[in-house]
Amino acid sequence: MRVIEVGRAGARPSVAQRGRARLLACALAAATLLSTHAAETPDLIVHHGKIVSVDDHFSIQEAMALRDGKILALGKDADILATKDDHTRVIDLDGKTVLPGLIDSHMHPTGASMTEFENPIPDFETIQDVLDYVKARAQALPEGEWIVLSQVFITRLREQRYPTRAELDQAAPKNPVLYRTGPDASLNSLALSLSGIDRNFKITDGGAGFAEMDPKTGEPTGILRNATRFVRVKPVETVPSQADRLKRLAELFHDYNSVGLTSIIDRDSSASAVSLYTALRDRGDLHLRIGISYGVSSIGPIETVEKRIRAVAAHPLFKDKTGPVRIIGTKVYLDGGMLTGSAYMQKPWGLSKIYSITDPNYRGVLFIPPERLVPMVRTAVENGLQFTAHSVGDGAVQTLLDAYETVSHEMPIRQTRPCITHANFQSRAAIDQAARLGVVMDLQPAWLYLDTRTLSTQFGNERLRWFQPLHSLFAAGVIVGGGSDHMQKIGSLRSVNPYNPFLGMGTAITRKAKWYEGQLHPEEALTREEAIRFYTRNNAYLLFNEQNVGSLEPGKRGDFVVLDRDILTCPVEEIRDIQVNATWLDGKPIYARP
Ligand SMILES: [Zn+2]
Repeated sequence: MRVIEVGRAGARPSVAQRGRARLLACALAAATLLSTHAAETPDLIVHHGKIVSVDDHFSIQEAMALRDGKILALGKDADILATKDDHTRVIDLDGKTVLPGLIDSHMHPTGASMTEFENPIPDFETIQDVLDYVKARAQALPEGEWIVLSQVFITRLREQRYPTRAELDQAAPKNPVLYRTGPDASLNSLALSLSGIDRNFKITDGGAGFAEMDPKTGEPTGILRNATRFVRVKPVETVPSQADRLKRLAELFHDYNSVGLTSIIDRDSSASAVSLYTALRDRGDLHLRIGISYGVSSIGPIETVEKRIRAVAAHPLFKDKTGPVRIIGTKVYLDGGMLTGSAYMQKPWGLSKIYSITDPNYRGVLFIPPERLVPMVRTAVENGLQFTAHSVGDGAVQTLLDAYETVSHEMPIRQTRPCITHANFQSRAAIDQAARLGVVMDLQPAWLYLDTRTLSTQFGNERLRWFQPLHSLFAAGVIVGGGSDHMQKIGSLRSVNPYNPFLGMGTAITRKAKWYEGQLHPEEALTREEAIRFYTRNNAYLLFNEQNVGSLEPGKRGDFVVLDRDILTCPVEEIRDIQVNATWLDGKPIYARP
């Protein structure tokens, strides 16, 4: 009988080592086949492909045999096909390229799937797009009903400004309009008067914020800074049922599958989100592996926060590591964002019209001081949880690294794979410190794609030297996983943020951005091989699931994706346009391109 050649030799071992390893592997494979032939006959073989295994040697294989959802072997067509019997399903890949099932390190699926529950929301690229939408809503709604737009970042609009009060009045004269992003908002006249915001308006609750006044007339301009809490908004809302939520979530997950995603991390999960995932799982409708990074409020006495963290560790989905839904850790928010001018930076942001920054010393907002962050990290580590914090600015990244460093002097932390989420702005020192501590990162190339134009205007090219420094992170050995931060809408390119992993990989490889000439620090570009690892085995490590997914190797689950073209050789500009022909999970087809 034939034996299966296990893997194709990679670059690293010597010829002699390879020879010995292959002899041993052949002997083992032969022994296994002889003793358990009936049990080990594949029920599925895919062959005549270019199977990118993403194993240690990044070996390329022709064929793969599976049984009961698990990979039995990879190798040459003839060797793998020789193991089939009459019951084996055989699929000719027709020379197509296969990748391991793709993994996204950062999504918010339960919220995103409901964004358009009320009505479809178009893409907003210009102020006119916004006004057209407001006008259409005003025509569809009864007079006096609120029109609310949330998280349409002005930094991503061509004009990089809010729609004015006058523009909103013209689009919707008889409906109050609230346009809000981050802590700020723009209102029309009706919304201002219904909220009691006039020329005499003062903040009275002791909190931050103000309403901008026109210096000529003394009237509110409609722009509120850090004061959206004073808007007396009453949105029309049909309350969705659990069935509505499950239906839309299943639709979203199917769309994730259509772009090759087979595992994701929910990076701010909750009890209600977990109940939706387990409901889909229990009725057999969950075709996705979900790692749960549980959102923990950092507000209140530190003992209370620690108690919340311990409660996550006590959850059955953290203890049971066998199912498709698993808790991996906790997430808090350490700073603001770069789209709203509130990321916490090591140096001042600088004056800005787009971000309305008038204080030359302003560095952004740090939500958790180090003396509270350290006990949170300690509690997570003590309980075996992966800690992560939303940390966009280099000041926040450094604060989190220093907290990890402090706790590492008390106990080992590496085994909990402590994480930094977003980590957009870094430094040489931060990369080296992360590598030394075993800190992992969850990064979003789509932000580079969408926001480089605004960021380079604000900070200049030099201050973006360590923006998403992917090459340096890979070179230093930091395990960094690619994600999208998908938070709104269904559709891999129309969503905010776009969750198409090929856009993510293409951006990581080209470092080219929308409405931006040239490349942003091309010295930080990934190779194609690295970009694939970024969305496969690196994320499997972030998920604590590298034993099962992230690469195609004997013993791992049969999660794989068939592409319409070869990601390793197609023109680099085409990578972001790659289509998925088919997606398989556990050796079963879950998506086929129509
Ligand atoms: Zn997020």
